[in-house]
Amino acid sequence: MALQLFNTLSGKVEKFHPLEDNLVRMYACGPTVYDYGHIGNFRTFVAVDVLRRFLKQSGYQLKHVMNITDVEDKIIRNAARDGVTVQEYTRKYTDAFLEDSDALNIQHPELLAKATEHIQEMAHFIADLRDKGYAYQTDDGSYYFRIAKFPEYGKLSKKDFEGMTDGARVDVDEYEKDNARDFALWKAPKPGEASWDTEIGPGRPGWHIECSQMSMKYLGDSFDIHCGGEDLIFPHHENEIAQSEALTGKPFVKVWVHSRFLLVEGEKMAKSAGNFFTVRDLVLMGHKPSSIRFLLMSVPYRKQLNFTFDGLTQAANSVERLRNFKRRLETSQFPAGSNPAIVELAERASTEMRTAMEDDLNTARALGAVFDLVRDANAAADNGQVHQDNVPKLLQVLNQFEEIFAVLKDDDAAKVRATVEWAKTEGKADKISAAAAELAKAASLSDEDVEKLVAEHSQARKTRDFARSDAIRNQLADNGIILENTKEGVRWKHK
Ligand code: AMP
Ligand code: ZN
Repeated sequence: MALQLFNTLSGKVEKFHPLEDNLVRMYACGPTVYDYGHIGNFRTFVAVDVLRRFLKQSGYQLKHVMNITDVEDKIIRNAARDGVTVQEYTRKYTDAFLEDSDALNIQHPELLAKATEHIQEMAHFIADLRDKGYAYQTDDGSYYFRIAKFPEYGKLSKKDFEGMTDGARVDVDEYEKDNARDFALWKAPKPGEASWDTEIGPGRPGWHIECSQMSMKYLGDSFDIHCGGEDLIFPHHENEIAQSEALTGKPFVKVWVHSRFLLVEGEKMAKSAGNFFTVRDLVLMGHKPSSIRFLLMSVPYRKQLNFTFDGLTQAANSVERLRNFKRRLETSQFPAGSNPAIVELAERASTEMRTAMEDDLNTARALGAVFDLVRDANAAADNGQVHQDNVPKLLQVLNQFEEIFAVLKDDDAAKVRATVEWAKTEGKADKISAAAAELAKAASLSDEDVEKLVAEHSQARKTRDFARSDAIRNQLADNGIILENTKEGVRWKHK
């Protein structure tokens, strides 16, 4: 079997093969850094991360580029409102985006490209389009793409644009499908707006040109995968295809991958509806980054994900169950030897996980496989049927899982603590819930510290030094850690 991906361009699930040998060249539209990222944005970024991680696990070499949109209508408006430069305004939100990505264990792409660092090259791209007759200048010095000259316009969004008035124009960056017009490649300077001097005159780029120019600069005229949320299919990606293919005459991207929008409690997320959450909002409410990541991954990227607080609690329980299983394997005593039934169980889970991911990244099915394994192996361990030599094999399956899902490492407390500290410096201390404060407290002990204390606790009990063992138990409790006495010895977990 090989990876199969749904390609928006063909409208079909296709077997994936890179254009060139073993190298996958992939571009993902990044954030517009005008505010903190919301959980909808991060649904898409986590989906791209899952794809990225699975490609690497499958043995491909990867060159993954992501843009940072740091000049655009909303940014210009907000920077002007706050009386700061575009660069000053966007630096803060670019840093925040990377911090939130780290909190959610989203791997950094091989290259992050900022739009403002490519303005001259974008102007040159537009000059070439003009020389080929695909771009024209208006009286004010702006440039537009002439879509009537690109008959394939609409092939990605499957929209028939015939009958559209030639020369009708739109100059905002985002617009609706029924409003397909010649779109802005370059916007003439306006008072109070950032502007650059270039070979095509002064001004600033429209939103769409940056992704054509930067993706082709770093990945070549034709590359393998282009990702983004479903809202980008039109106009953004349709316009990217028009710009790039008009310039080169070659197919721009082989596979277009789009993730479906996230809903919150069944509704479209909107500030006005009061159901709009950033990653930071949720962490300050006391939710762990690993629960958020888990929930965002639990529904396959092409299915509607309904984000609910119940779902978030269930996600936290699921993560805890997996971590407890891993801890049990690492810290318990098992009888010597190997049980072939457990080997078979582990192999079945491993194959099923891989098959699920090859099936258009069916994360729900992959999770099903790992939870079946946890249930069956836990039951076997309770009956003394898991043996010492089975442990590495079981841990190997968990490792295969972790390479993609990345929720087993227990570093939530430190991340929550960082967010709590950030809230204090931003004057948002009133947003820190008791649950978040409690979680942050646990950050003072690393897993290693806890292991040491647990060992010391067991030793103290053996030597009947109950004063010491109680003191350790209390110290751990203060740090949000509880001890459980089991047949296999003392186990610990987070409260
Ligand atoms: P933006 O910062 O608005 O440019 O968006 C960054 C990414 O988030 C894009 O790929 C969008 O398609 C995606 N996105 C925005 N809102 C949602 C949502 N509610 N659900 C899933 N993805 C979204
Ligand atoms: Zn883009």
